Amino acid sequence: CAPSYETFLTQHYDNPKSSVGKQYCDVMMKRRGLDKPACKEVNTFIHGTKNNIIAVCTASGGKDYGKGLRISLRPFTVTTCKHKGGSTRPPCKYSDNKSSRYIVIACNQDGKPVHFDESL
Ligand code: 5GP
Repeated sequence: CAPSYETFLTQHYDNPKSSVGKQYCDVMMKRRGLDKPACKEVNTFIHGTKNNIIAVCTASGGKDYGKGLRISLRPFTVTTCKHKGGSTRPPCKYSDNKSSRYIVIACNQDGKPVHFDESL
């Protein structure tokens, strides 16, 4: 099935960054269901407003990046969670990396983000 905006929000939107204690990624990957059926290897959470993220799909907030992708005109604060290795089955253990980066996403025909590709 086609990726949806709702799924994108579940996987990639967390603003303001949730206060979940020390192990942000361990908690958030489980909370958002990204630990099932196996630990998702890499996932980025964007700490920006929905309006600002949606704007990346438009000329005011983003530009073409090839292959149907868009890159933001401004950096977002993001946290990238990387699976530490070991078992790929829950409980999943992640490293956290918070930084300011340009996000690369795909948008649907309604101008809503549906896929997170990378950040740089
Ligand atoms: P590394 O930092 O290990 O070289 O690369 C990690 C890769 O994961 C990057 O290429 C980046 O594009 C990708 N990545 C980061 N966050 C996400 C995400 O949320 N979803 C997907 N599919 N890829 C991601």
